[in-house]
Amino acid sequence: MKLVNENNLESLKGFNYVRMFLGGYKGNIQFGTYMELFRSGIIDPKPTYQRPYTYDDELGTYTGNTWQKNLISNFLRGDVIPPLSLRQVNDKPIDFQDYNQQYIELYIQELLDGGHRTRTFFNFYQGLLTVPKGFTLEINGKSYDLGEKSWVEFPPVVKDHLSKTLVFDIDVYTTLTDTLAGEKFRTLNNLHVMTDPQWRNSYRKQISYSCRQLGSFDSSEFEIFTKRENGVNKLLYLSSKVSHTGRVTDEIVSVLSIRIKENFLSNIEPDKYPSLVPSKTKIDDVYENDLHEKKGESGSYHINGKIMKRVKLILSVMNRIIVNNSNDKRFKKINTLWTKSSLVKLGLMLNDWIEKYGHFSIELMDEELFFNKLTSYLLTTVKELSMVENCRYEVVNGELKIVHKKTMKSERSKYRFQGVWKTGININDYEWLKGVIEIDMKKNLSNWGIVILDSQRRFTTKQRQQVEDRDGCVCNHDGCDVTENLQVDHIKPWSKGGKTHIDNGQLLCSDHNLEKTDTMDDEQLVDLSTDDLQGLIIKGKIELGKVMEIQEIKKQRGIE
Ligand SMILES: [Zn+2]
Repeated sequence: MKLVNENNLESLKGFNYVRMFLGGYKGNIQFGTYMELFRSGIIDPKPTYQRPYTYDDELGTYTGNTWQKNLISNFLRGDVIPPLSLRQVNDKPIDFQDYNQQYIELYIQELLDGGHRTRTFFNFYQGLLTVPKGFTLEINGKSYDLGEKSWVEFPPVVKDHLSKTLVFDIDVYTTLTDTLAGEKFRTLNNLHVMTDPQWRNSYRKQISYSCRQLGSFDSSEFEIFTKRENGVNKLLYLSSKVSHTGRVTDEIVSVLSIRIKENFLSNIEPDKYPSLVPSKTKIDDVYENDLHEKKGESGSYHINGKIMKRVKLILSVMNRIIVNNSNDKRFKKINTLWTKSSLVKLGLMLNDWIEKYGHFSIELMDEELFFNKLTSYLLTTVKELSMVENCRYEVVNGELKIVHKKTMKSERSKYRFQGVWKTGININDYEWLKGVIEIDMKKNLSNWGIVILDSQRRFTTKQRQQVEDRDGCVCNHDGCDVTENLQVDHIKPWSKGGKTHIDNGQLLCSDHNLEKTDTMDDEQLVDLSTDDLQGLIIKGKIELGKVMEIQEIKKQRGIE
């Protein structure tokens, strides 16, 4: 980080220099120039130590609130507003054309103060917000009625005047480390109410970064956390309780990662009834301890670490189950099914099943079959299939048994599967639901869309040798005597549950291996080399588009 000193003040002429202070400088900048800086991305509104902004200016229905309208009209009338805070993050200035079409040199900056004021002005500047009704300005003796207009609707003469005369006071910090920037952000925001995720995020811990990456509406790759209903401040697939402004979405990620890390479910005493969601104190502790974690990918909650990779896998399966079944006619109001508590429960169940059936079996599960089965339970009205409250459960000999009862004065209530699914958040709710499902899974797992897949995907060189020793070095297809370019083939396809064992292996020439393609699904195609896939296109067995799809899957999984 380069310190600003008297010698390089030249490069700061975009900011009208006022004076330096320890670790930065104060200045002011023209309204229009500052807005253009923001528009151009030279000012980054979302540094990683911040969860700054919660207004819905990306939605069509956004009109702003009273605080925002007052801020704008006061500023336009010439009231002094407190300085905006920026952090200088690079030491090489870049060229920038300012509001007056003049080229100036500037350093890249971050919004340090959360950006509520900057974003408010910017929304006004680009036409999303208007000044209040009845707003007038007197300029050079002439009065202008500007009521309910945005900046883009202001007369040119007014814009020109205001652009030249209005300035923002700016504090630019030039020497802050990431940690100090997080601290500064907290100090600057103490005047406002900071939410818990904002507060925790400002510490730049691995867990906060990972949870934001995976679970927040502004950066997640999963549609369940990002896709909003048209013009409504509500996620499309999740219940309204999981609205994005509450930042509940990345809390789901944090709950899952914390519970998986501590192996929560296997450490609960038989007479306790804890919630699956950790207390606020507990979550704060985890974030606090994360500060002392090893840096780099070995850290517990690093985005590329073991825990977060598992969480990512779980989220991708949940995303598929929810999104790909969202048009199912049996649920007109399907989104009320997907609440914070149902997602936490489903996520933890998937984690258990990954342990039980293996990574591939869950990753490649058939989401439609799974949903179909789940739906039959959600819609059931069979009275026997009800949970008795405040009892711990266990599956014994294929039946769900009560293994502990809480002492109660009144009679115990019974709850239907759907109710427990949507709202239950304690260990007993989880045990009961999972027990009901697993008893049925035990009868027929594939009805739930799960096929147990060998965790070993491919034959090893040693296994190949064993097959060659057994069968000889020749194609195993009847009447074929090709001895070159032989491949070890799963007799029963791997994706149908065939084992990667020599008993299920045979040598085939590439022609006879490809012949099986007529019945090949994606998983078998993934097994083929690029050359073989190209061979299939030439033979007209598959379309180019399909091959590109397969190559994409291979790329994602790091094959070839
Ligand atoms: Zn052959």
